[in-house]
Amino acid sequence: MSLTYTAFCDHVAEVRSRIAESCARAGRNPAEVRLLPVTKTQPPEVVQFVVQHGGFEAVGENRVQETAEKRPRVAGGLRWELIGHLQSNKARQAVELFERVQSVDRDKVLIALDRAAGEQGRRLAVLLQVNAGNDPAKFGVDPEAAPALLEQALQLTHLRVEGLMTIAPLSDDPTVARRTFARLREIRDDLIKRFDLPLNELSMGMSGDLDAAIAEGSTLVRVGSALFGARG
Ligand SMILES: *Cc1c(COP(=O)(O)O)cnc(C)c1O
Repeated sequence: MSLTYTAFCDHVAEVRSRIAESCARAGRNPAEVRLLPVTKTQPPEVVQFVVQHGGFEAVGENRVQETAEKRPRVAGGLRWELIGHLQSNKARQAVELFERVQSVDRDKVLIALDRAAGEQGRRLAVLLQVNAGNDPAKFGVDPEAAPALLEQALQLTHLRVEGLMTIAPLSDDPTVARRTFARLREIRDDLIKRFDLPLNELSMGMSGDLDAAIAEGSTLVRVGSALFGARG
């Protein structure tokens, strides 16, 4: 483990000031944009820094198995959120391990999560992952299919849909990410109108593109490398 607690705190301050600057440029209140530390590949000792820092309520992980090993080794009251692709046969384990699943992108996963949450006597918070950049390399429901997926989710009593998530396509062209995030916001606004419900969370933006995401209305930026260093 090469990252020290002090270095982590410095990185948090840097990222928070980046968020504040982006909010200032966009005329937004920085309190509307939360920072989710992405702790995938980081050891439990590093996740413990997040608890120790005191400024965070949740962390993001992208794999069920990794979290099953890690979560019992981290003390304190963090919430854990799944941000990586989920297979429906891991839904039961995901409901045991995560307070929220951000990566719901098809009906099979919705149904499996609903069933598992019902069995565990819970209502699970979820976000629908939308492939707003139409990137063949990314998971997520196609924008055109998002209304049907939401309609189905709303019939499942053990799930609570809190908003949408997207990952922008990798590109050298910075306008690609910005357009993807604008698209996700438009899709969200359209769903709010059609279904007459709140979908407050817009989970978009990572270390490389959080400024564009905030400009387009992100409420949650998921940040790994800018906080913990490059992953090996
Ligand atoms: C890894 C990951 C992030 C964080 O990426 P960084 O570039 O390290 O900030 C955000 N979202 C998802 C879905 C990820 O898998």
